[in-house]
Amino acid sequence: MEAKVLVLNQDYQAISVCSPQRAFTLCYLQKAEMLDHYPHLSLRSISRQYNYPSIIRLYTYVKVPYRKVSLSRINVFRRDGYECQYCGARTNLTIDHVLPRSRGGRDTWENLATACHDCNTRKGNKTPGEACMPLLHEPFRPSFIMFLSNFTPRLHDNWRPYLMM
Ligand SMILES: [Zn+2]
Repeated sequence: MEAKVLVLNQDYQAISVCSPQRAFTLCYLQKAEMLDHYPHLSLRSISRQYNYPSIIRLYTYVKVPYRKVSLSRINVFRRDGYECQYCGARTNLTIDHVLPRSRGGRDTWENLATACHDCNTRKGNKTPGEACMPLLHEPFRPSFIMFLSNFTPRLHDNWRPYLMM
């Protein structure tokens, strides 16, 4: 599958994802600047080789409606790449309250994490610190773009700063 390009608005807000060809054209026409590229990939014409864009920024501000991702079980799984955030297991997944519900932990993006049944049971009514079970990734509120692009944290580390706002 070809690597996608993250498109930032003039004010550095992530607004969409596009193909590398489209991104290259926008840069070529001086409608956007290339902020980052994939180091191991390149775009080729017959005679030349070009950087393969990873992030571009538009020179002109574009108005876009604010869209947010609804908090649901499936969306927490998607954010976490269907992986237990304690041991990395991919089966018997449940939703864990990082700060347990019995201790005032709420249903928020920052307090919910994917956990396999075993880890969830082992953690019980403790915090990750008390249970000595550090999280693989700190839970965060995902942006709409992240879902649009089927973003996985491991593949697009350089996109992260723009998607966790
Ligand atoms: Zn686990």
